[in-house]
Amino acid sequence: MQSTSIGPLADAQLASRFNAVRLWELDDAEGWLDANAARVDVLTTSVRTGCDARMIARLPALRAICSWGVGFDTIDVAAATARGIGVSVTPDVLDDCVADMAWALMLATARRIPAADRYVNAGEWRRLGQFPLATRASGKRMGILGLGRIGRAIALRGEGFSMSVAYHGRKPQADAAYRFEPDLAALARWSDFLVVACPGGRQTRHLVNAQVLEALGPRGFLINIARGSVVDTAALIHSLDHGLLGGAGLDVIEGEPGVPDALRHRDNVVFTPHIGSATVETREAMEQLVVDNVQAWREQGRLLTPVNAAS
Ligand code: NAP
Repeated sequence: MQSTSIGPLADAQLASRFNAVRLWELDDAEGWLDANAARVDVLTTSVRTGCDARMIARLPALRAICSWGVGFDTIDVAAATARGIGVSVTPDVLDDCVADMAWALMLATARRIPAADRYVNAGEWRRLGQFPLATRASGKRMGILGLGRIGRAIALRGEGFSMSVAYHGRKPQADAAYRFEPDLAALARWSDFLVVACPGGRQTRHLVNAQVLEALGPRGFLINIARGSVVDTAALIHSLDHGLLGGAGLDVIEGEPGVPDALRHRDNVVFTPHIGSATVETREAMEQLVVDNVQAWREQGRLLTPVNAAS
């Protein structure tokens, strides 16, 4: 059963190879569930739609949840694990594109590229002459909150820009070539750019708070490609209003889609609408990985990219 569309490539394969029912296309999805819930053994979903404890409880034969996207803050993994249900996501295949987006935001914010584009298009280049000076990115210090798959891809790109890299997480990583900083505010104080790349959810909610933003300082930039919930948006607005932070590049924001009016139309804030992985190549790879997980489950009784031990 598909609770939502994964994309044309995956939807076609799930229908032709596994006879997947498209719940979102049914006129009476509730009625279909009442009659058929006991026959559903695999559910595909996406990070946006997720799967809550109520849906898990409604599907007594459920054995696997195969989700599109790498975050699983919208899936009740604890409820699934308690029932022995395997949960898979689509990691690895999107690391490079999300890391590229972090870098695009870093350069766009520091070098003020959207503002410069507006300047040229408004005819100001001819009228006013030189665009104001911006901030250098190469050779600076980059702090990464969450040196996971995506965080490492972001760090790797930093080497090409001659950057110093340090990171914060719950623990140091034995195989990491970068300095571990156990105190996030201390990492922010050291950093010119603080890049958020940890998971969302309750554990990381508002980790980037007023104290961390103040430590990053008026010459520092915050880049968030992870989840909006990790950053305290009210504190971010306060910092920008009072010149306590240099700028922010945000692919994600609390309460998305949409952004608080107080953050709009600022030259030192650059937004993208949660498109870190949104390239044709990466989205196709993510769709295929959902299908491959379903196939592996059906043919081998295991998931290729599980996030829990239940499979
Ligand atoms: P990952 O490999 O699991 O890495 C997550 C990192 O965060 C790990 O290094 C982990 O280190 C750290 N972390 C976990 N909990 C933490 C906590 N409470 N405090 C501090 N650090 C913590 O995940 P990933 O594949 O790199 O993806 C990271 C996140 O990016 C996803 O969860 C998702 O929310 C987001 N994402 C966004 C987009 C987009 O389009 N913008 C696309 C894909 C993913 P420790 O375990 O040592 O703490």
